[in-house]
Amino acid sequence: MVRFKSLGSGSTGNATLIEAGGRSAFRVLVDCGVGIRQLSLRLAEAGLADSDINAIFITHEHSDHIGCARQFALRHGVPVWMSLGTWTALDKPDFEGWLRIAQDGVAIDLGSLQLMPFTVPHDAREPLQLTCTDGASKLGLLTDLGHATAHVLGHLQLCDALILESNHDSVMLEASSYPFFLKQRVSGQFGHLSNQAAAQIARSVCHAGLKHLVAAHLSQQNNRPALAQELLSQALGCRSTDIVVADAGSGTPWLAL
Ligand SMILES: [Zn+2]
Ligand SMILES: [Zn+2]
Repeated sequence: MVRFKSLGSGSTGNATLIEAGGRSAFRVLVDCGVGIRQLSLRLAEAGLADSDINAIFITHEHSDHIGCARQFALRHGVPVWMSLGTWTALDKPDFEGWLRIAQDGVAIDLGSLQLMPFTVPHDAREPLQLTCTDGASKLGLLTDLGHATAHVLGHLQLCDALILESNHDSVMLEASSYPFFLKQRVSGQFGHLSNQAAAQIARSVCHAGLKHLVAAHLSQQNNRPALAQELLSQALGCRSTDIVVADAGSGTPWLAL
């Protein structure tokens, strides 16, 4: 069985736990965008110790994703996967043997989990998002992208659960006090997904086996959970309360596939 839990989501820090259960339990942390003490606290709230993490995958170099990844990996001796572009953008820090390079379309076998990274359009050097499977069920993780491409949608077919960026309400962003350049950046082709754009993706990957849709990376200034839930539930034809919203500080409960 696979289960997952967001430990926090949004511009103040992202981290998601994915766990394959059973006798050979294996846990991957996708992004480490908080401080190392905060990460330990959130792992403890999830019922885990730092030493329960077996591998780390970093999606891109933005500080709300990289956070304490290097410090955590070196302290606990766990491999860290990221693209060559992400590592280069970070100025090629020394991971003391724990760095592993991830590539678009090249599967990563980690215990009983297999990750499949894929490139996304975002204003980072070589950002990757991913799907994860134990062979029986599939989780999709998609945050930090400006728009959906055929490549992205192809990877997200037949997910049992999907964590999907629903960053901003376009009207709230337009009316916000953000400077013009920032509005352009966030809403641009290499920025972040609006609720509307997220709903379109949800509609195009919706199928009978989709158990959980988690709205993630919500802007605290330019969005409201209820707005994201409304559009995403309309897209799936479910109740708005069926859409789980990942909280900036506390993430989500454990969700099982
Ligand atoms: Zn981000
Ligand atoms: Zn980003």
